[in-house]
Formats: sequence, C-alpha cells, structure tokens
Amino acid sequence: EQQLAIDAATALKAIARRPDIKMQVEHQPQLYALLQRAAARYVTGEQRANALEVAELLHGEGYAVSLEYIGENTVSRADCQQAAAELMGVLTDLGEQGIGGRVSFDLSHIGLLVDNELALQHVLQLGELSQMYGIELFISMEESAKTAAILAIYRQAVALYPLIGITLQAHLHRTWEDASRLLAQDIRVRFVKGAYEEPDTLALSRSAELDDRYVQLFELAVERGCRISLATYDELLIDRLLLYSWEGAASVELELLYGIRPELAVQLREQSYPVRVYLTYGQEWYLYLCHRIAEYPPNLYQALIDVVGG
Ligand code: FAD
Repeated sequence: EQQLAIDAATALKAIARRPDIKMQVEHQPQLYALLQRAAARYVTGEQRANALEVAELLHGEGYAVSLEYIGENTVSRADCQQAAAELMGVLTDLGEQGIGGRVSFDLSHIGLLVDNELALQHVLQLGELSQMYGIELFISMEESAKTAAILAIYRQAVALYPLIGITLQAHLHRTWEDASRLLAQDIRVRFVKGAYEEPDTLALSRSAELDDRYVQLFELAVERGCRISLATYDELLIDRLLLYSWEGAASVELELLYGIRPELAVQLREQSYPVRVYLTYGQEWYLYLCHRIAEYPPNLYQALIDVVGG
C-alpha cells in the first residue's frame, strides 16, 4: 500500500511537470478555474501583491512569514533571470513593508540546471539585498542529486551574506555529516524530514528512526547556537521537540506551509511558540497544488471539497 502511494505521488509529480498536460489544462477554462479554486487553499495568488497582503495580515496576528515565488527546475537562462528578478522584487518589497520575514527559493529556479555559476551569481545578488534590508534568504533543499551543488553554493554565499539560511533533510544519510560541518553560531537552518523519494542507500523512509535522527540534528543545532526553523507537521515529533529547553539556541521556531494544518499553527501560537507561515505565490500554482496532493494524498479529498464548496 505504501509503495502504491509512493508510485501515485511520483506519477502526479511527473504529470505536474509535463508542459503538454499543463497547456491542455490552461486551454480548458472551466477545469483551470476549478483547479485554481483548489489551489487557493495553499497559494496566496498569482501576484506578488497577493502574498505581501497575506504576509501583512499574518504579521498582524503575530506570525513571522516566509515568501516563495513558486518555481523549480528552470532550464532557460532567461527564465532563471526572470525568477531571480522577481525574488529581488519580493525581497525589496518585503524589506520596505517593514514587517521582517524571509524569502525562500529553490536554487533550480534561478540557475542550478543551467550552470552553477549562474545560480551562485543570483544568490550573491539576492544576498546583497537581503543584507541591505535585513531580510533572511532561505535556500530550499531539492533531490539528493543536487545536494552537493546546493551546499557548495550555500557555503560560498553565506560566507559573504550571513542572513542566508539552508534547509537540511533529516532523511538523507549524508545530512549528519553535512550538519556537523556547517552548523555554527547564528547559522540559520531549517530542518525538514525530506519531500523527495530517495533510495534506501541514500535516505531513511518515514519511521521512528527518522524522527530520532531529526531530534539529534535539532540537538546538534541547539548545541552550536544556531537559529532553527522546525518545518514539520508531525505532532508527536513536535511534542518531543517542545519538551526541550531551547537554551543555547539563538532562536527556535516552528515553520508551517500556508493552508496545511492551519489549526496547528494557531494552537502553537496560542501556546506562545514562535510560528512562521510559509506563503507562496506565482503562476506555477498548478505545480504547487500537485505537489501538495502528491505528498499527502488525502489532500485530494480536500481539493475536491474546495472545488465543490467554493
Ligand atoms: P510526515 O511524517 O510526512 O507527516 C506527519 C503528519 O503530518 C502526517 O501523518 C499528516 O498527519 C501530516 N501531514 C504531513 N504532510 C501533510 C500535508 N501535506 N497535508 C496535510 N497534512 C500533512 N522538503 C524538502 O525536501 N525540501 C525543502 O526545502 C522543504 N521545505 C519545507 C519548508 C516548510 C516550511 C515545510 C513545512 C516543509 C518543507 N519540506 C521540504 C517538506 C518536508 O520535507 C516534508 O515532506 C513535509 O513537511 C511533511 O513531513 P512531516 O515532517 O510533516 O512528517
């Protein structure tokens, strides 16, 4: 059954990336409108202004925010440049809005698949702006085939611009060594279990062993005085992490995606834990919706309810 779910998720992600299918969807206005309605739960809108507006509201309610301009695996130089320019725009607007926050992105959105140097140049430009506005810049972690390149770019960039953070996947076997090498005082790190299907030789699947590893990484980061974002909806794991006194860490927060388990965000906030909500926007909402369903198939029922009820 687990294998079936994995196969279905892989197939859905593959469908989401097929430009011909996407084009067909775009040419059927009714279907397009229905899918857009389902996506509205997870995506603030197509425009940067949509995300900034929700960011302002959430800030008023006591949440920190992350903003992502949706996109990944961009293969043309021009599209990478467009994405980097959009990220610079959102970073600037967020800085000028004066509510703090962070901008998150995939390196494969801004050049990693074209050439590492292009991705690095874009990160350095973004890093300079992030320093100017005091806005954090967070690099997401992608498939294991990209991990070494992503960490190499991160290392070069953070040496110049300390507000750049990195996401580490607890499920990868290599992560303990990576973390041991990277984590230091005030380093910004986001821990996730890992969203990509990887072979057993490279990663653990969802298990108690993986949860233990997540906790060990957290302990290491606290020991080293890092600024930590715990990005998980796993309530048992969160309960374990909340049992810790966070003394030693420069800061610790929970970070949750907009539209997923919003009641958990409210509950944690009410218990006075710092919570960050990760907001997305952009024209690629279709890809994002497919990913949310692929990673948690019951979200398909939610999507149907949203379509019918909306
Ligand atoms: P799981 O064991 O997968 O889930 C625990 C429980 O949480 C599930 O039983 C279910 O009840 C609930 N749950 C999990 N997912 C969902 C969902 N989609 N909808 C509703 N309920 C759900 N992964 C990467 O590989 N790279 C990244 O850069 C990255 N960045 C992320 C940033 C943020 C802010 C967040 C929240 C996640 C990010 N992820 C990233 C995804 C992450 O790796 C996991 O795939 C995801 O968080 C689900 O795992 P989990 O820790 O919640 O535990």
